[in-house]
Amino acid sequence: MAEARINLDNPTEVARETLRRLALRRIAPTPDNYQTLYGEIVGAPTGAAAGASKAPSAASALTALAGEIETQHPALAAQAASLVRAIDKQDWRQCGWVLSDVVRQLKQPDGKDRLPAERERPARAAAGQSQDPQAQLRELLAKTLELGVAPQLEPIPRLEEKARELAVSVRKADSTAALDAAASGLKSLWMNIEMQASDARGLQDTLKRVLLLLVENIGELLDDDTWLRGQLDVVQKVIAGPIKIRALQDAEKRLKEVIYKQSMVKHGLREATANLKATMTTFVSRMGDVVAANDEYQGKLASHIERISNTEDVVELNRILENLLEETRSAQADSHRAHLQLIEERDAAINAESRIRQLETELAQMSALVREDPMTRSLNRRGLDDEFAREAARADRYGTPFSLAVLDVDNFKSLNDKRGHKAGDEALIHLVAVAKEELRITDHIARLGGEEFLIILPNTPLGEAERIITRLQRSLTKKYFLDNNERVLITFSAGVAERSAGEAQEASIARADGAMYQAKLAGKNRVFLAPAAQAAPPDAE
Ligand code: GH3
Ligand code: MG
Ligand code: MG
Repeated sequence: MAEARINLDNPTEVARETLRRLALRRIAPTPDNYQTLYGEIVGAPTGAAAGASKAPSAASALTALAGEIETQHPALAAQAASLVRAIDKQDWRQCGWVLSDVVRQLKQPDGKDRLPAERERPARAAAGQSQDPQAQLRELLAKTLELGVAPQLEPIPRLEEKARELAVSVRKADSTAALDAAASGLKSLWMNIEMQASDARGLQDTLKRVLLLLVENIGELLDDDTWLRGQLDVVQKVIAGPIKIRALQDAEKRLKEVIYKQSMVKHGLREATANLKATMTTFVSRMGDVVAANDEYQGKLASHIERISNTEDVVELNRILENLLEETRSAQADSHRAHLQLIEERDAAINAESRIRQLETELAQMSALVREDPMTRSLNRRGLDDEFAREAARADRYGTPFSLAVLDVDNFKSLNDKRGHKAGDEALIHLVAVAKEELRITDHIARLGGEEFLIILPNTPLGEAERIITRLQRSLTKKYFLDNNERVLITFSAGVAERSAGEAQEASIARADGAMYQAKLAGKNRVFLAPAAQAAPPDAE
């Protein structure tokens, strides 16, 4: 600390310097101490030894100091007076007390940065004396530290505490050393604040970047929602500029709105996804029912159901839906084609059926034209005529016997009535089949009409013909006709005739028919022989 030059010839100046050093070194202001310090300043020998010789000059110096106190500090006039009194009485103890009081009042001997005692303030204010500028500055610094700096450092308790401590020590820095200590304390506080500030700026920048990233990402996720986009743009703008508390509060509020809205959207989305999944599953299984026949499509549907149940992602669901629709369109096209094909086939079947009917009719006509009765496969009228003519010619040529028999099924009407027309047909078919089995290969059976048949037995005399027809009668009792698993006995009545040489077809049949009628009359299920034909008169034809 720089020490002002002291004029050693001026006792007032020396006395003031002595007082200053007493205060500075916090030495009790006893007369002895005062004297020692005084001696130190003026270069005089110190201690008790020098005390006696120096005592008068010390007393005069003390008196000078009292005067000094009185002129420089009128408020301390009372102390100055009691000091003078104590010097006069050489009451050094009293001198010490008075000086001690003065020192308490005057922290600095020059009085420039003197800190007034609390109790003095009203008196000073009343006296209109302005406060010491240095003290004012210290007080200002202390207040700045307490009210301005410390609250700012609240997030860093260590520094806040330090600022408050510094305020206290600045306020009571009553010496250069104390001020120096306070100054170095302040310097370390600045450095700490500076470091913290740069840390905080880095932190702030990082936070801003993280926030920007977050906001941009939310935007990416919601590229379709214009309302949310607007909010996010505002937040983005706010945090892009310099950070201000108002802007941050605004950003916070808007972010909260965004988050709330987003949670609503998410909820709706989850619901919509669940609905879509349910709808798609139903749709897919219905499509499966519709095109059950298409194995390939069934396989695809199964894999789609699997994919649907495994995802919550709407984008994925949409993709599946697209595939599904595409495949369904083609499956529908397939099934449409199949349907058309079916219609075509049905039309073709109808056409074919009518063609078959037509052919059947044609066939029947042709059969009629040809020789056979289509139902019983016996000869029709035309076949009968042909065979009869051929056998008659042969018989006439070779002079061989030639017989014929007319058969009429017994009680056929009642069979028809009892079992139906169809059973009647079956019975006739059965009769012809059995007859063909029993007759010789050269024999012929022809249908005369209804349930009447004619059997032609070439090269057969009447007696043998009778046996053959009787055998057929018996075989029908063994090879019975089955209708609905019921044995139905078919019997017939027959008339057998031997054609006489050159006899006409109608005449021969008429004779046989006559015999048949006789069999009926005789009680049915019998074989009657027609009497030989009468020789026709030569001029009768
Ligand atoms: P009878 O013993 O006196 O001969 O009596 P019947 O009932 O056999 O003779 P009737 O002439 O009274 O009846 C013949 C019946 O045969 C009449 C007719 O409806 C039926 N009929 C004729 N042709 C066919 C045919 O092709 N199929 C069927 N199921 N019935 C026929
Ligand atoms: Mg009949
Ligand atoms: Mg009959």
